[in-house]
Amino acid sequence: MESRAPSHEACCRVKTTTCPCPLCGNAGRKVTAVTLDHHVPQRLRAAIGDDAAFCLNPACEVVYCNPGGFVVRKGQTTLPVTIKDSGDLVPVCYCFDFKRGALRKDLAERGKTDIPERIRQGIAEGRCACERKNPQGACCLGNVAGAIKKIQGET
Ligand SMILES: [Zn+2]
Repeated sequence: MESRAPSHEACCRVKTTTCPCPLCGNAGRKVTAVTLDHHVPQRLRAAIGDDAAFCLNPACEVVYCNPGGFVVRKGQTTLPVTIKDSGDLVPVCYCFDFKRGALRKDLAERGKTDIPERIRQGIAEGRCACERKNPQGACCLGNVAGAIKKIQGET
């Protein structure tokens, strides 16, 4: 097996795209065909094409858009999307399958969570597959930190 860089920046470098979201106007994060293959259902896959972006605005219901103005919305993707859906059954880490509810449970019971540490460990062992598994096509750690902060802010 090919060895992989332990740093998560190496596998998840953010590329922005010039294609803005047609609904909210925010610049998206460019995603690859690998990401789209995994998260866009077959019936929409050809229409979105391979040149698409993930809308990073949590308030916007567009998940993917392409320069032609075609969009895949929240609810149309194969899995619910962390930043677009605040439900407890929504994954915050797709590689190791941690859901928002697991963060909430840890924080409620112990006031802290070791989930980010467990994810970092998995990344260090080269077991992450963010490009394929995460609908954003990028590392989840930023989303995990954001979700923890948000839950802590609610209590
Ligand atoms: Zn948008």
